[in-house]
Amino acid sequence: MRIVRQIADIRAALHSTRASRAASVGLVPTMGALHAGHVSLFRAARGECDTVVASVFVNPAQFGEPADFEHYPRDEARDAAVAEEARVDLLFVPEAQEIYPAGFDTWVDVGRLGTILEGAFRPGHFRGVATVCLQLFNIVHPDVAYFGQKDAQQVQVLRQMIRDFHLGLEIRVCPIVRDADGLALSSRNVRLTPEERQRALRLPRALATGDVGAALALLEGLNVEYVEVAPFDPPVLAAAVRVGAVRLIDNTPLSSEQP
Ligand code: AMP
Repeated sequence: MRIVRQIADIRAALHSTRASRAASVGLVPTMGALHAGHVSLFRAARGECDTVVASVFVNPAQFGEPADFEHYPRDEARDAAVAEEARVDLLFVPEAQEIYPAGFDTWVDVGRLGTILEGAFRPGHFRGVATVCLQLFNIVHPDVAYFGQKDAQQVQVLRQMIRDFHLGLEIRVCPIVRDADGLALSSRNVRLTPEERQRALRLPRALATGDVGAALALLEGLNVEYVEVAPFDPPVLAAAVRVGAVRLIDNTPLSSEQP
C-alpha cells in the first residue's frame, strides 16, 4: 500500500493503473480512526475493484462544533496498518490546505435533504460532506464509491448529488457494523466512559423496535435530538442522541430489503 498526500501524486498513481482501460477503481472515503465498519467497506471494494483507494481526511468543513473537530481521534500510523491489512492499494491522506487551499470559495449547496434530520441539528454539515466528496470524486474518478448505511442521510445526499451533477459513478452501501453489545461502531465511541456506553446501548435497542413511539419510550431520560422515520431508500427509523460529550447517530432500515 502506498500513502499519498498530494492530489498530483494520487492522479499520477491512478494514471498508471488506468493504462488498462478495463481496470476499475473503488474509493472509500473516511475520516480515519478506522474500525471494523470501515474495514467492511474496504473489503467490499477489494472484492469488486482492481484498485482500491481509501482516503483519510478529517474534513473541517463538515464539523459544526470546534471541540468535536479538535477531539476527533487521529492516529495515522494505526489507520495505515488497518488499511494495509485490508489490502487497500492507495491511502490518500491530504493536509487540509491540499483540499481547501487559500482562496478556496466554491461549495455544494445541498437542497432540502440537507436541512432535515441531521441537517436540522448540524447546519452546514452536508454542505461540507458534499463538497469534500465532490472533490474526492473528481480527484480519484472512481467507478464505485463505498459508504456505510450508518450514515443513511449522507448516502441520500450523495446519491442526489451524483444524479444532479451527472457524476457517472456508482454508490455501494454496506450494512451497519455493530459491536457485540449492539452499539454501532463509530470513531467517536472511544470517547464514551463505561457508564456512558451502558446508557448509549439504549439507542440500538430503541431503534430495533422499528416504531417511533416505542423507541421514544425506551430513550426516555436520554438527551434525544430526534427519532423519526426518514423517507430514504430504504426508509429508516433514525435517531440522534447525546450521551455525555458524544453525539451518536444510528438507524434501522424499515423495509425487508436491507442494503
Ligand atoms: P467516517 O470515517 O465516520 O466518515 O466514516 C467513513 C465511512 O464509513 C462512511 O461511509 C460511514 O458511513 C462508514 N461507517 C462508519 N461507521 C460504520 C459502521 N459502524 N458500519 C458501517 N459503515 C460505517
